[in-house]
Amino acid sequence: MTKPEKLIVDGKRLDGRGPLDLRPIKFKAGVLKRADGSCYLEFGGNKVMAAVYGPREVHPRHLQNSSRAIVRYRYNMAAFSVEDRKRPGPDRRSIEISKVSREALECVVLEALYPRSAIDIFVEILQADAGTRAAGINAASVALADAGIPMKCLVSACAVGKVDDTLVLDLNKDEDNYGQADLPIAVTQFGDVSLCQMDGHLTEEEFGQAVDMAIVGCKKLHEMQKQALVEKYGEMVSPQAEEAEAQKADGGERSE
Ligand code: ADP
Repeated sequence: MTKPEKLIVDGKRLDGRGPLDLRPIKFKAGVLKRADGSCYLEFGGNKVMAAVYGPREVHPRHLQNSSRAIVRYRYNMAAFSVEDRKRPGPDRRSIEISKVSREALECVVLEALYPRSAIDIFVEILQADAGTRAAGINAASVALADAGIPMKCLVSACAVGKVDDTLVLDLNKDEDNYGQADLPIAVTQFGDVSLCQMDGHLTEEEFGQAVDMAIVGCKKLHEMQKQALVEKYGEMVSPQAEEAEAQKADGGERSE
């Protein structure tokens, strides 16, 4: 791949997006029969499958924690996921991504409810096109919810980068390869940052702007994640609507 002369032309990126646009995104919850929870995600050119198993018995048993569940996360890129065949098996990059992704999700899982058990998250990158760690976290978050794992909230992730001296949301492959900075961020529904990494250089001011942009991107992703779960489990019912429904069923006895 040759370096494009410019990555932004007349305010538009080479794939036609504006600086604040995400790539096309499609979530599908509950696609694997044998997993407790799963999610297939297309995020631009990335194709990602997440599967969750558990809570289940911990093997090897010495890893058990008597006061909480342990969360494990395995990020794996398929050999056919990139242009040149990727050597199968774990490498430094996938070990690092597995660790930071686990930490990004672990903080919302109510681990204390399942002592001595394991919650295993497997993320398979079937096709890679920049931003796979963020895509993996988005898919894993939906898969955890699909598995019925109690969580404080969902986690969403996207990257912000700097290309041609401009901050842009959700880097594509060229922007990732030839840009000046790449800042993947994961955010909980409550706006707490649970992953923040950075490659390249940003000024302090740009860093603040980049985090704000990522939070806006994550809010959009959060809506799509919720929608994927609604599509599988039906209409969402608000507590107020539930209460009104119950009152109707009781013939209004509960109203006071
Ligand atoms: P992320 O996928 O989270 O952006 P990186 O910045 O490390 O993580 O990787 C950027 C992109 O580089 C990946 O999405 C993938 O398209 C490509 N890439 C990563 N590892 C390899 C590899 N071993 N061989 C070929 N391409 C790779």
